[in-house]
Amino acid sequence: MNAAPLTDFSRLCVHTITTKPWPLAEAVKHYAAAGVKGITVWRQALEGLDPAAAGRMIREQGLTVVSLCRGGFFTAATAAGRREAVSDNLRCIELAAAVGAPHIVLVCGAVPGQPLAESRRQIAEGIAAIAPAAAAAGVRLAIEPLHPIYAADRSAINTISQARAICRQIASPWVGLALDVYHIWWDDALEQEIAACGREKSLFAFHVCDWKLTMLDPLNDRGLMGEGCIPLRQIRGWVEAAGFAGFHEVEIFSNLYWAGDQHAFLARIQEAYLGSV
Ligand code: ZN
Repeated sequence: MNAAPLTDFSRLCVHTITTKPWPLAEAVKHYAAAGVKGITVWRQALEGLDPAAAGRMIREQGLTVVSLCRGGFFTAATAAGRREAVSDNLRCIELAAAVGAPHIVLVCGAVPGQPLAESRRQIAEGIAAIAPAAAAAGVRLAIEPLHPIYAADRSAINTISQARAICRQIASPWVGLALDVYHIWWDDALEQEIAACGREKSLFAFHVCDWKLTMLDPLNDRGLMGEGCIPLRQIRGWVEAAGFAGFHEVEIFSNLYWAGDQHAFLARIQEAYLGSV
């Protein structure tokens, strides 16, 4: 069953990457002025800033830090490369704790030419290595399955089922999933998989955008909600039936929208949020 239309912005979160031309302070100011209540902070938006001060600035504007994007990339051809990845993720956990983000989104990694099963083994090993530090810092780890189009070089975790298998293996309440409609909408077991995440209490985050029929670039041509073919209200209905009550995070990588006026884009995001999510 489709979810009922949204009527306000109390659960609307925008990723800083969505309005990439705005530095963090500007994004926070403009989101707050527009009535957006949540912000997901990308690491590059924090470069050169004191993360604790950035977190305070966000909260003072009445926004909630929903998550930090992103950690992951656990796979590497060498053991030294995998150790460096673990170190980087430990730094990411510290950053999340400092900015006040309750979880980190993990884009898990893949090495071109390395069998996917080996990459998945390395990913599970990497997450297991950082899970104790995440628990100690009070920061959850949200594995984001990526569409199979990215299996070669960005993530060997391409289905909710694969991500759940790693969660079961690590068996920590601090490890769960971030579900992004762009990556999961095609899955023929989607409803059942979302319900399973609900039962397993592992549904940490929900990202929205759209899948355009004519795509100029698989990475940086995401659609605004309603511009493509993803049944957003149906999927949100399943996510809510699974018990998820968190923010709806708008995450759009788009050369087209980044090149335009960001105030106009934010207004379109809000209109699309009420009209299509
Ligand atoms: Zn996402």
